[in-house]
Amino acid sequence: MGAARGSRMDAVLKKSTATLPLSQATQASRPSQEEAEAAVRTLIAWAGDNPDRDGLKDTPQRVAKAYREFFSGYGEEAGPVLERTFDETGNYDDMVVVRDIPFSAHCEHHMVPFIGKVHLAYFPTDGKVVGLSKLARVVEVFSRRLQTQERLTSEIVAAIDDALKPRGIAVMIEAEHMCMTMRGVRAHGASTVTSQFTGMFRDDPSEQIRFLTLAKGLRSGA
Ligand SMILES: [Zn+2]
Repeated sequence: MGAARGSRMDAVLKKSTATLPLSQATQASRPSQEEAEAAVRTLIAWAGDNPDRDGLKDTPQRVAKAYREFFSGYGEEAGPVLERTFDETGNYDDMVVVRDIPFSAHCEHHMVPFIGKVHLAYFPTDGKVVGLSKLARVVEVFSRRLQTQERLTSEIVAAIDDALKPRGIAVMIEAEHMCMTMRGVRAHGASTVTSQFTGMFRDDPSEQIRFLTLAKGLRSGA
């Protein structure tokens, strides 16, 4: 029963990773630096200010440069980041949990930031694990793109599944969306939580609870 559900999930995950060559599509139609700066000037004028006043003179150039950094994830893939795995973990076969991985992404609907933390866990297969910093790098690859929190969650799951073929993956993201805080309903302090479970986490609710307890409960010094 669990195995059948697991393999169906695997198929879904493979499909979602296969539709990811975003970087090529984006690079093919990337405008020049001058065009990007002209677009920023237009937005400054649209906001109601004068792009030629002293304080704003260099802003288009700075914004174009900042965009390179905010959206550097388009030039990167998660696969190579997770390529190097280790199996010298003794007999360790319980869950590996990494919590509080900070990230900032931009929502694809308003192009304003959403900022939060990723908690993730997996059950290694045959002791196969990756360096913990690599998991943080994967979060970075996917968060430095125009995103939805839901897709960010499932892309992280798919990347870990592809690289490690673990017996189960849990990813939970908590984030505050500036498009909720600064516009519309102005829901200050509201946070959005998404989670996705595969394999053992999906099939065994007690493993989900253990993950949530480890991710949320045991703060250092608490
Ligand atoms: Zn938004």
